Amino acid sequence: MHPAKTSSDEDLVRERRALGDLELIVCSDGTYVLDGGAMFGVVPKTMWQKRMPADEQNRVLLGLNTLVVRTGSAVVLVETGIGNKQSPKMQEIFQNEERLPASLAAAGVRPDEVTHVVNTHLHFDHCGWNTTLGEDGVVRPTFSNARYFAAAGELAHGRLQLERDRVSYLGPNYDPLLASGQLTLIDLHGAGGFTPGDARLRGPEALPEARIQTSAEIAPGVWVEAFPGHTASMLGVHVEARAHGGATERACYIGDLIPTHHHLDATWVMGYDLDPLTCISERKRFLEQAVAEEWVVVFPHDHQVATARVVWNEKGKAVARD
Ligand SMILES: [Zn+2]
Repeated sequence: MHPAKTSSDEDLVRERRALGDLELIVCSDGTYVLDGGAMFGVVPKTMWQKRMPADEQNRVLLGLNTLVVRTGSAVVLVETGIGNKQSPKMQEIFQNEERLPASLAAAGVRPDEVTHVVNTHLHFDHCGWNTTLGEDGVVRPTFSNARYFAAAGELAHGRLQLERDRVSYLGPNYDPLLASGQLTLIDLHGAGGFTPGDARLRGPEALPEARIQTSAEIAPGVWVEAFPGHTASMLGVHVEARAHGGATERACYIGDLIPTHHHLDATWVMGYDLDPLTCISERKRFLEQAVAEEWVVVFPHDHQVATARVVWNEKGKAVARD
């Protein structure tokens, strides 16, 4: 047993807060466990275990946060957890709980009212409920009326099935969305030069071509920005709302650039990160803006502190304020 408890019903909705004229809800696919060493890279265990206690197998307890943004006209979901397509062996390893459908229901979010789904990247623990394994054994899109968005570079990287990270890129999380025509691939400013029929995006032969978008906007007030490092094409998701007196309020789902509030220290990067030096510089770039403009930062894998505004402490380190 892990020292920290796993999810209970009162954990189904992690947080609900207003952002100006918008509503932010943090739902959850429950908790899962990962190796503590992998979560903290070269940081010595004597240091990280004070922040996150490890169990007897050196595992730490993490969350799977889905951000729901209600804008009035759109219902945007950022990330969809691990899902229900895990093999029994994988579920045994990760101890994941398949809670997102119950969490969305508890928050009053109907699957058919979701208009947009954004995946910051296509690792299995960020896009699992993009699709659902039915009792008939068929995998279908979970959000039938939604348009889904992911980085073209992420899909291309997943298609390579590299020995370092192929276990994280699972076709059933996104191929059914290509088949249904619901997936838009983002190639910001056309920097990757992706075309709809691009050989780099090619999956199983029968899949139709993908739709490519070179602009950042997902819905009014919601847009993406590239934050490379964890993966080369990872996206952060910005939200901007109108507040009283014409001011604006900002939030950002930062993805695995900063997986938990314990990773706000720019040098505490993960063993999973493909390019740790880029992670450090991108974290610094992100934190400068997030602190100065008092953004609500949403962490993907923090089951304790799902969102926080960030400040510099007396040592000049970024820390969660609330
Ligand atoms: Zn990841």
